[in-house]
Amino acid sequence: MQKEIIGLSKKELSAALALMGEKPFRTKQIWQWLYVQGVTSFAEMTNLSKELREKLSAAFVISRPKIVTEQISADKTHKWLLEFADGQRVETVFIPEDEHGAVCVSTQVGCAVGCKFCHTGSQKITRNLTAGEIISQFMLVKDVYGEWPSSSQENRLVSNIVVMGMGEPLHNVDNVITALNIATDQDGLAVSKRRITLSTSGIVPNIPRIAQETGVKLAISLHAPSNEKRSQIMPINNRYPIEEILTACQEYQKIVTSRYITFEYLMLDHFNDDLQDAQMLIALMKKYKIGAKFNLIPFNPWPGCDFKPSSNNRVHTFSRELEKAGFAAPVRTARGQDILAACGQLKSKKLV
Ligand code: SAH
Ligand code: SF4
Repeated sequence: MQKEIIGLSKKELSAALALMGEKPFRTKQIWQWLYVQGVTSFAEMTNLSKELREKLSAAFVISRPKIVTEQISADKTHKWLLEFADGQRVETVFIPEDEHGAVCVSTQVGCAVGCKFCHTGSQKITRNLTAGEIISQFMLVKDVYGEWPSSSQENRLVSNIVVMGMGEPLHNVDNVITALNIATDQDGLAVSKRRITLSTSGIVPNIPRIAQETGVKLAISLHAPSNEKRSQIMPINNRYPIEEILTACQEYQKIVTSRYITFEYLMLDHFNDDLQDAQMLIALMKKYKIGAKFNLIPFNPWPGCDFKPSSNNRVHTFSRELEKAGFAAPVRTARGQDILAACGQLKSKKLV
């Protein structure tokens, strides 16, 4: 059976080509067709001999996920339900801004972490996505927006990647790292590391690998200032408590010295949004001396979840308290809420 070529690391691709008796320089040529030109057939690789193109077609396929449904929100947020070869589905979201835009990619079908506030977490884990399935979500959005050189489209909006879709990326760390290295490879998609952010619920042992093996920006889903509160909403905190996460963040910042770590903080009404909570957060960051900024996330409700969003007033008071202490603490604008595309609302099955 043919193998998927999208998602092979450069090393894997060159090993496969060597086995076919090809010279090393072919790797870069093929890589550029796949990741600079975005071609979806070997026939288009016109600087390869016909014979090699036929050999490649016999050995490999170039796939994109299939679009099952798509929705565009009033604010232009675009969401797709995608299906892979085995029928498994995930959601991918594109969030356009004026001059750039971020593709929010999924890394797993479902999620095993089971955070109480998260729609994805209410759906059991089915499987990890492969590196190819992860990177092809970004490539599919480039297809849809005509952002390959062959198109006349001049805007380049599909510029950033946020690893914040369905799944816990650090529960699928090998494939996520391979996908991110494909994204940042200079001979290919060449997405800058500064334009990629990976968000994790805090799978401590894998945090250093993100620094060492990718160098992308890190976001931690903190959501509470104490272990007592965090464990109530994120059972994973019993395994990896706040102190261990912050120690891992210190390690990350020893390697990726130039970047702030973003602490995502979901504003849950009268649960974690008191001034006292903000003060505890400040004390934590000062104790661990982490270059931190906060991202305050309005809670996006979904059918069947009991939490309520904090009032605007409480959110702004909280934000001001953090800012007074010298931390950036913007409030994230919810995008695509009307099509359930906002944070924590993604789910691969239709609700019955
Ligand atoms: N599993 C990773 C990445 C995906 S979730 C993680 O948890 O970090 C992306 C972000 O959306 C996380 O910060 C998550 O906590 C947040 N989120 C989850 N449910 C939400 C909801 N209902 N409303 C707003 N944000 C939510
Ligand atoms: Fe999984 Fe992240 Fe949702 Fe938690 S917030 S259940 S880790 S996707």
